[in-house]
Amino acid sequence: MSTLNKKTIEDLDVKGKRVLVRCDFNVKIENGVITSDKRVVASLPTIRYLIDHGAKVILCSHLGRPKGTVDPAFSMAPVAENLSKHLGMEVKLAKDVVGESAHELAASLKDGEVLLLENVRFEPGETKNDPELSKKFASLADLYVNDAFGSCHRAHSSTAGVADYLPSAVGYLIQKEIQFIGGALENPKRPLIAVLGGAKVSDKIGVINNLIDKCDTIIIGGGMAYTFFKALGHSIGTSLLDEENVENAKQMMAKAREKGVNFLLPVDNIIATDYAADATNMRIYSDSIPDGWMGLDIGPVTAELFAKSIQKAGTVIWNGPMGVSEWDNFAQGTIAVAKGIADSNAISIIGGGDSAAAITKLGFADKMSHISTGGGASLEFLEGKELPGIACIDEKDA
Ligand code: AMP
Repeated sequence: MSTLNKKTIEDLDVKGKRVLVRCDFNVKIENGVITSDKRVVASLPTIRYLIDHGAKVILCSHLGRPKGTVDPAFSMAPVAENLSKHLGMEVKLAKDVVGESAHELAASLKDGEVLLLENVRFEPGETKNDPELSKKFASLADLYVNDAFGSCHRAHSSTAGVADYLPSAVGYLIQKEIQFIGGALENPKRPLIAVLGGAKVSDKIGVINNLIDKCDTIIIGGGMAYTFFKALGHSIGTSLLDEENVENAKQMMAKAREKGVNFLLPVDNIIATDYAADATNMRIYSDSIPDGWMGLDIGPVTAELFAKSIQKAGTVIWNGPMGVSEWDNFAQGTIAVAKGIADSNAISIIGGGDSAAAITKLGFADKMSHISTGGGASLEFLEGKELPGIACIDEKDA
């Protein structure tokens, strides 16, 4: 099913309507103070559009894991305060999620005013996608907008169920995820190159499998590479091994060969005697890792090879570091790939988590076309899985 045809807020007539917006306000709070309001800031374009177009805006989100009970430690109060500052107007906070207070305040909203509901996970039905709760959410509003990409892979009442009862659309954040990730999967500028790293093959098997069907080149680095080496019969010393997936690795390489997909593995590695930041290390070719040594980064020849390959990309998708990038001695491969992507003219899509952190730390964030706002959701999107929070949204009119 295509995700590219979903309605966006600009397809809705929002003037004078009560619009329920599922946001991702799952910010870190310490002693009642928000330590980073990045997620609140990311939500502002959608909220501002709705205010500017005369909607009565009803925002909701989860915050932490209160597990279906009302716990003041997880109240949205700090978010309401933060939002009020950013928007330069009062954001009212309901005392409950779908109760009397939410209904009273929602009913009294004037055009362009903003209300925030309490933490949706105070309701036990939320994570069960309980239809009764979904109906209660729907009874607060005329329209539903989902803009919480990070929660799109979960079928909960506020992320999916409510869309059964209201006309719906995606907000700007999800629209951008669909445009870039959905676009890369369905209609990429070619060659399409995926760079996949990180620790576990098992976490990314689905992604590799799906991308073999779509990509021209797949580049594998990080701890994952050693399971592929094992499948090729190389000795890998004490490197990370996902024993259960050696056979899968073999099959994936065979599938890539059959489909004519370039499947690039490291040709050299930085290996170390221990899993430690200051471990003794040296460079070695991939088929000769000695006993007692472990691969902790791709080597410089590989880094150059990967960067060169990336230069030819029309679209590049990157998920997962090329080595233990948290430690300087084993970060060079990840830095080289990040730089290679930044220097290329390709449409560049970074799939959250460690790769996004590396890109940001190196100051390359502005050079990327898209850095995904949802780690788990972006992986499931790349796996070709249907995301309930997007699947539930109305299609554009024919
Ligand atoms: P993931 O969450 O699967 O993207 O994995 C990210 C983690 O993989 C990071 O914490 C890296 O330190 C780790 N990693 C990457 N390469 C290696 C390697 N060669 N050996 C051990 N850990 C690695």
